Amino acid sequence: MSETATHNKETRGFQSEVKQLLHLMIHSLYSNKEIFLRELISNASDAADKLRFQALSAPELYQGNADLGVKLSFDTEANTLTIADNGIGMTREEVITHLGTIAKSGTAEFFSQLSQEQSKDSQLIGQFGVGFYSAFIVADSVTVRTRAATASEDQAVLWHSQGEGEYTIEDTQKASRGTEIILHMRDEGKEFLSEWRLREVIGKYSDHIGIPVSIQTTVRDEDGNETDQKQWEQINKAQALWTRSKSEISDEEYQEFYKHVAHDYSDPLTWSHNRVEGKNDYTSLLYIPAKAPWDLFNRDHKSGLKLYVQRVFIMDDAEQFMPSYLRFVRGLIDSNDLPLNVSREILQDNKVTQSLRSACTKRVLSMLEKLAKNSPEKYQAFWQEFGLVLKEGPAEDFANKEKLAGLLRFASTHNDNNEQTVALADYVERMKEGQDKIYYLTADSYLAAKNSPHLEQFKAKGIEVILMFDRIDEYVMNYLTEFGGKAFQSITKAGLDLSQFDDEGEKAQQQETEQEFKSVVERTQSYLGDRVKEVRTTFKLANTPAVVVTDDFEMGTQMAKLLEAAGQAAPKVNYIFELNPNHSLVKQMADEADEVQFGRWVELLLGQAMLAERGSLDDPSLFLGSVNALLVNR
Ligand code: ADP
Repeated sequence: MSETATHNKETRGFQSEVKQLLHLMIHSLYSNKEIFLRELISNASDAADKLRFQALSAPELYQGNADLGVKLSFDTEANTLTIADNGIGMTREEVITHLGTIAKSGTAEFFSQLSQEQSKDSQLIGQFGVGFYSAFIVADSVTVRTRAATASEDQAVLWHSQGEGEYTIEDTQKASRGTEIILHMRDEGKEFLSEWRLREVIGKYSDHIGIPVSIQTTVRDEDGNETDQKQWEQINKAQALWTRSKSEISDEEYQEFYKHVAHDYSDPLTWSHNRVEGKNDYTSLLYIPAKAPWDLFNRDHKSGLKLYVQRVFIMDDAEQFMPSYLRFVRGLIDSNDLPLNVSREILQDNKVTQSLRSACTKRVLSMLEKLAKNSPEKYQAFWQEFGLVLKEGPAEDFANKEKLAGLLRFASTHNDNNEQTVALADYVERMKEGQDKIYYLTADSYLAAKNSPHLEQFKAKGIEVILMFDRIDEYVMNYLTEFGGKAFQSITKAGLDLSQFDDEGEKAQQQETEQEFKSVVERTQSYLGDRVKEVRTTFKLANTPAVVVTDDFEMGTQMAKLLEAAGQAAPKVNYIFELNPNHSLVKQMADEADEVQFGRWVELLLGQAMLAERGSLDDPSLFLGSVNALLVNR
């Protein structure tokens, strides 16, 4: 091949992320090198799916050959393994984008997170999806010959690379449609140039693939001796996994299939496979991954199921079948009711889509319920990875609110740690006699929540409080009003009333103190004017002199912070200032006759309360000045 100029040959550099991926992959995945076969066979099968789909409207793309399949052959002298398919193929432009760049945003950030710790990196790279590039785990050079289904014989493309910084691309001839990948093996890859090894690995990775995967084998004579003749031998069942009956499918097969559909490297946490007949006729196979993908919270994260109609692959990432809060679910749906020419637009507002979506949603939620019930440890692992996404549920899915509430997990004062392990059902079961509300507190962090002065009376009375410190929690609580017939009550709201747990003697004592303290409240109110909504006495504190709370239907601190973070002008929160008349600082303030000095006391206590509640002050110098003056005038 010396006619470079006539073949339009060019040398191009890989995008820098590809270089990083190649480097890391070769160094962290060598212990699991056989996965390159899974990735390449998976790509070949996807290419067949795409061709079949396009041929629905353009049957001429088959060019007279609709028998789709993948063929593997090897040559021990040349040291090569060839994986050939007759799928959709690629044009020159497609080769350049698909085999030279990684077209996912956030990739650079992803790589910058990787450490040099190889065990961890192999996990992360797996989540990222190694795909085609995994060929370089076993090969020191890779050649791709490909002809798009739309291209003619002399419009084929030859790609070649040694997996270092660059690759070459040129025009070539190819007699038939599809892609041929030729791996020139490193020493570590030579084990795959063997019939039995290929048979073993392909058997494992391709049974669920819907098209035949064959290897070239040597024909043996009647005595079992090798002859010079070769034959193609189909290795897999070539029946799409989801079309088989559940009882015939092993866990390993489900797991392998997951890796194929999800382009994931690790096993899924759990799955659910169902064939449904009746009003809607469909099969669904839904998986919950074990690990969150690296880009779950990226705006352009691709979510959704693979859509098949009557066994024919229609599209990837059909997000219409899952609500956004379940965007981590992988798998497929195969419908017999949708038309074969269905498009994303048609799916948008289609009755079948809607009912499949609601059925799939229910299916996932009950799969999660089952997981929580039968393997709490696995559910906890799920929560760790996807809890934040599931928390978007109550706001998005009114119909399944109660179910979703049951799946949420929180930290609480019951456990002395920040792990989110408490289910609302556990909380309700532990409720005190006479308690009719689920008490919760939202804060910036676990520590802020745990040490909040609002908790003091709950500790004293032995009442459990749910501690929330994820950013989304305040938002979630706008949508969750009750669980199991018990209303939620924020403990930083003015409506909080625990008097039912006080004894009569205590109540009488409190009324008396409140009466005595009335003038101090009035003095404080007149000093503060409209800086607070109200000043009042509280008996819910033990070691804290004062707190601020908000009215039940007013915006709270965390909500205000959320809005601010979302770019809105800092909203004004109308705080109610509550004083603890039994605290010695408050008593000193009450005894202060001098109005100027009294004002300083108010600044000190209000400032403290605001710091505990919000972590910041509107006017720090006023606070500091008052504190200093108080100390000097002691
Ligand atoms: P992924 O499969 O996750 O998209 P890969 O790196 O494996 O990532 O492949 C990148 C792209 O290259 C594929 O999405 C596909 O468009 C194209 N490709 C890879 N292998 C083939 C093939 N055998 N036939 C046609 N296109 C292919």
